[in-house]
Order: sequence, then structure tokens, then C-alpha cells
Amino acid sequence: MTGVAERAFARAFARTFSTSGMTTRAGIARLGAAMNAIRDPAHRALAEEVFALVRHRRKLDQVEVAPARRALARLLDHPPSSRLPVALERALHHAVPRVNADVRRYELSFDLSGGAMVVPGRAVIRLARAAPEDLVLAVAPDRLNVREVHARGRAVPFSVRGERLHVRAPGATAIEVRYTVRPTENPNGPGLIADPRTGSYSTFTWPYGTGALFPSNPAPEDGVTARVTVEAGRGRHVVGAGAAGRRPIRIDRRVPAYAIAFYAGRFARRRPVASRSGVTVTLYGHGKSVRDDVRRAYQRAAAEAIDFFSDWLGPYAYGRRFAMVEVRGRLGCMENAGAVAMMVGAIRARQVAREMAVHEVAHHWFGDNLRIRNSGEFWMSEGFTSYLTYRFFQHTDGARAFHRMLDRSRSLVSAALRHRAHALEGPCYCDIHELFTDVPYELGPWILRMMETALGSPAFDRMLGAWYRAHRFAAVDTREFLRFARRQTGRDVEPFFDRWSRIDAVPSFEDRSAIAGDRVRVHLRARTPVPEGVVIPLVVQGLRGEMMELGVDPRAGVIVETGFRVRRLVWDPERRVLAHVGPTAPRPVRSPRR
Ligand SMILES: [Zn+2]
Repeated sequence: MTGVAERAFARAFARTFSTSGMTTRAGIARLGAAMNAIRDPAHRALAEEVFALVRHRRKLDQVEVAPARRALARLLDHPPSSRLPVALERALHHAVPRVNADVRRYELSFDLSGGAMVVPGRAVIRLARAAPEDLVLAVAPDRLNVREVHARGRAVPFSVRGERLHVRAPGATAIEVRYTVRPTENPNGPGLIADPRTGSYSTFTWPYGTGALFPSNPAPEDGVTARVTVEAGRGRHVVGAGAAGRRPIRIDRRVPAYAIAFYAGRFARRRPVASRSGVTVTLYGHGKSVRDDVRRAYQRAAAEAIDFFSDWLGPYAYGRRFAMVEVRGRLGCMENAGAVAMMVGAIRARQVAREMAVHEVAHHWFGDNLRIRNSGEFWMSEGFTSYLTYRFFQHTDGARAFHRMLDRSRSLVSAALRHRAHALEGPCYCDIHELFTDVPYELGPWILRMMETALGSPAFDRMLGAWYRAHRFAAVDTREFLRFARRQTGRDVEPFFDRWSRIDAVPSFEDRSAIAGDRVRVHLRARTPVPEGVVIPLVVQGLRGEMMELGVDPRAGVIVETGFRVRRLVWDPERRVLAHVGPTAPRPVRSPRR
């Protein structure tokens, strides 16, 4: 039975999108208030599903129409196949059309020499398939002003409606767009960012912001190569993938469009560090905004990480150079292909900076190289990257550093799930902001860690290397990965993955075990639901250094006769299982952002 509040929410949705697929902050606030008025928990969850589609980006996309329709129909008790009330149908009809340009390559030029307010830009967009009747690309109309579109050497008709550029050039395999870009001074972008303090420019387009810099297809699945030519203006130096100076930036291997970036300014360049595998790592900063020992440490860590991942997975695929460019901001760092952005506010301390640098390096294997098929697969970029980062520090800094990172990661998962529990994988249409929590960043690596301990590190490492090499420069998803792991190792990891990727809390236990001489009564009291099949490693240590290792099913008490006088119990010293055993529940810790 549908109540008054449910109908009011549906009306609010219809009103919000009554004239266009885009809305305002006020529109979203009204829709949120209507959602909060729903008391019935099941109905409230349906309204939340609808709200989650539009709240961050304040627009309804065509890919969101089917899930919105499904949830609204259930909320209003409508049969799934019947039409919704006419006002709702009209609202859904206003959804922003899907970008349909299948892009192969972007050739971009920008001219920064004329001063800051309006930057002339030109984009030659080469398509993988001939343009349809109505070619649709993403643009941010408040940032890009499209002046002309050409195809086959002639001007062709175009229009900008909402956040879409529609071009009429059926059959064309390349179009040229002439436009201007308006920079922003907001260090978090999107698009072209001007730093008034240093007079430098940088770009930031993750995850959907490519349209603020060039007409584009922002979907991560759309793998592209790029060439970017920048007229930097007097005294400015251009930095980007594979180039520094006046030559164009080149990305010759496919990456998601959001990984294309450039920087222009007066940089203080640190002396390059050559990695063993022959990649030169150069750091570009501004004055003393970051301490020199911090810079030295993270530059060196990046070079070592390139070698470590190259040895394990396959060579670094973006040429012989790797640039790290310091930019304003504190949000985190960004995996721009071949030339990552290091936000100075996020790299104040030495160890944090090292971790950030290694994380961005690791993205050149997962995220930039193996792209995610859709936003719902966000963890396939961030979770794999965090895991690789932790493994690097295990290699360079030793087991204790590795364990500290996994412990912090466990606390972060715990806090994130307490704040808002959600599954590791999202649906293909989901907004990436809904997954921008510590769940993909930290539950992701824990799941990989548990797979590693279950399969054995050598077998797991071989499998991960084979997975990378088999899918280089391609878009991938979770189910493909799980099937691949089964083929490679003979073990079906899918049931394990499904159990752990949907936990609502990190399994947490109070240790009520008792030691009496050479006898241990092992007893764990669960504070949270416990996934099926959990076995927690326990090491029983004796007074004279004796050791006994066992696996404990936390649901079954057990009495152990050790044959030696017991000193203490150590739970999971190798961090094999995502679980917390202790006198109190895990404490929340601060999250690093990257
Ligand atoms: Zn990342």
C-alpha cells in the first residue's frame, strides 16, 4: 500500500525534472526532504535508490532511467511493465542523452599564451566507428564554449543542449571542434585549473569532468590514446605524459579519457631518478611548498615501485618517463597517465607522500591500463591499486609495515561500513560518488589479501600477473576476474567473493579465552555477524618460546592441549583474515584520500 509520503516523493521527482534532466542544489534538497519523510523502511530504501542516482551530479542520465523507473514503480505499487503517471514519464523522458561517441584518439591543443580568462582550444576527435546521425559528446556548457565543428574539412551543424554536444556528421570518422575553455581557480577542478599564486595551470577531470576540458566520452570503458599540444606562454614549461618542454604530450597506449592531463608553469625540477627498469622519474614542484626530504623520499619510492610492479606484473607501459607534478589542493593525488598530480596538501609527511606516490604508480597497472568497465567496478581500480601499494611496502619496508597498513585498512573498512554499509561492487549505472568511500579502497585490498592467503602467495601472484598481461589496455570487470582466477588456479573464488564483498561490518570478536597451564580454552564472542566459513589463525606461544599454530572456527569453542606451558595467544599475526579480535571494538582512524 502506497502512502502519502511515497506519492509526495514521486511528485517531487516529477517536479524536479519537469523541464530538463538537470536540476539545482535546491531541487536536490527538496527531493531529499521528500525522501526523508517516508517512514516505511522498504519504501524509504526504494526512494534512496532513486535519490542516489541524481544527488551528486544533480542530473538524470539516460542510463539511470531504467533503474529509476523500476524503483518508482515499486514505490507506487505499479506493475513493473505498465506506464507510470504521466508527470513521471515526462520527467524520465528528460534524461540527459547517453554519450554515443566511441572515441579512439583525442588530438587536443590549448593556447595559454593569451592570458587567463578564455583559453582557445581545438579537439580533433578520431572515432572508432563512423558517427551516427546524432553524434553525442559530453561538454560542460559553463566551462566550454563550442564555436565551430568541422568534419571532412567542412563546417557541420551542431548544438549544445544541457551537458551534451550534438553533432550532425553521419558517417564521419573524425570531427574537429573549435572552442574556448574557461579555467577555474578551484584546485579540485574539474577541467582546466589556474593557480593564481604560481601562475601555473593543471587539469583534473576524474571521474566525469572530461567535458570541462574537451568534448569527450568520459566513460572509463572508452579507452583512448591522446596527443596534447600546449602553447604555454612566456616562461611556462609544459609537463605531461612522455614530454616536458615544448613538444606535445603523447599517450600512445589506451587509457580512460580522465587520465589525460597536462601541466604548465614555472616548475622547480628535481634531478631525475632512473629506475632499474629504465624509466626516468622526474618531480616538478613549486618552491618550498613541500619539504625536500619528503620530495626525495616519494620520488625514490615511485622509481622503486615502477621496478617492483614491472617485475611482478609486466613492464610500465607509458614510455620511458614518469612525471610527478605538485599541484594545489589537499583532496589527494591523481593517476593522470604518465604524469601524476601530487596535491601538496595531501603529501605533507614523508610516509604519506611515499604511499601516495606508490599508489599513483600502481594505477599505471590497474585503473589506467586495465580500465574499469563501468563506475560500479570502481574497486577494480582503487582496491587493486591499494593492494599493490601494500605489497610494495611489504617488499621494501618489511612485514611490520605491511601489517600496520592492513590494520589501518581494517579500521577504515570498519568505520566506512558503520557510516554507510554498501557492497564492494555497484551496479553498472551507479554514480561513482556513491562508491567513493573506504570500502573500495580498503575492503578491496583485504579481499585480495584473503585470496592471496587462500591460494598461497606464489600462485596468487602468478595469477595476478597473468590477469594483467591478458587484459592490458582493455576494460575489465569483477566477474571476468573471478572466472579468470578460477581458470588459472582451479579454485572457485566466487562464493568467497560474494560473501565478503557484501559484509555489513568487519567481523569483530571479544576474546574470552582462558589459559590454564598447558591448556587453552579458546572462546570468541562475536560482536558482529560472521561470514560463513571464517577460520581465524591463532598462534599459541609457550613460556620457553614454543609455538603452536591452529585455525579457529569462531563459532565453535575449542579446548587445546598444547603440551607446553602457555604464555599468550596471538591472533592472526600474519593478517590473513579480515577480522578484529580484541577487548574493545576497533577504533576509527583517519582516512588518506587518493
Ligand atoms: Zn587511486
